Amino acid sequence: MITRKQYTEVQQKALELIAKAGIHITPEEQTRIAVADFGLSDIYSQGIQVLTFFETDRIAGKILVLLPNQTEPEHWHPPVGNDPGKQEIIRALWGDLRFYVEGDDNMTEGFIPIGKEDVFRLRHEIILNPGDQLEFQPGEKHWFQAGNRGAVMYSFSTTVRDGLDGFTDSDIIRETKIIES
Ligand code: ZN
Repeated sequence: MITRKQYTEVQQKALELIAKAGIHITPEEQTRIAVADFGLSDIYSQGIQVLTFFETDRIAGKILVLLPNQTEPEHWHPPVGNDPGKQEIIRALWGDLRFYVEGDDNMTEGFIPIGKEDVFRLRHEIILNPGDQLEFQPGEKHWFQAGNRGAVMYSFSTTVRDGLDGFTDSDIIRETKIIES
């Protein structure tokens, strides 16, 4: 859960990073940056901010923002019915960004959130500089993290069904509960 005050504060920080990335968004879009805390109630440590540009039955385009040293938990996009699962391309736009995927442990820049060693299993690090892209096939596990400046990236994908994503950490609830104070 997250308080309304904190939610607004995080939205504001995400806006500042989008501006630093030089991306123009409309006033209407500014009001609907979604903050996800994955039910962990520790937004500055684990979470993500998402602005959806478009989302149809088949495709989606979004901006993802990580605050400084914020981590998106390890997850994958499973098949749903006839859909093999979300295929996604990430394009780094600004900031310090690293992804973790299947492969040998070469982790040097990143860190595992405290006490979460067992739910961040992937340790193969890929540093993404602005303009770098990564493609994820359905079912491929990944997690990602920002460095000291935070990070801004595009996400282009097939159908998004966030509610059905799989997470290694069983404490995760995909829906963010906002507490009105
Ligand atoms: Zn993903």
